Amino acid sequence: MARKHSRHDSYDDPERDDDAPAPAHTCWLCGRPTGKNMVWHHPVPKSRGGKDVVPMHPICQQTLIANFTNSELQRYGMDVEGLLANPAIRKFVDWVANKDPDFTATTAKKKR
Ligand SMILES: [Zn+2]
Repeated sequence: MARKHSRHDSYDDPERDDDAPAPAHTCWLCGRPTGKNMVWHHPVPKSRGGKDVVPMHPICQQTLIANFTNSELQRYGMDVEGLLANPAIRKFVDWVANKDPDFTATTAKKKR
């Protein structure tokens, strides 16, 4: 396995990836900066005519989808405060606050 990037002694921060500066976005739900993995979430579901998108962590989007139906998401729309008033969402945001931006966990099992 040959790597294209040669290693340098000055490379003392393995956490940092200087090659790929990720665009800085702030997650709509939890307010943390997004990491390498981010999604553009439709606060109002596309199927309900939603056009606006907001940057989110994949895990935050999963949490929303797991806790709200499309009808509820449509009703809240851009009202993130309303979503955060939900105890389950509040708990998740408090929990995820200390995680790495690229932290992902399977919060909901895929049912397909
Ligand atoms: Zn988030």
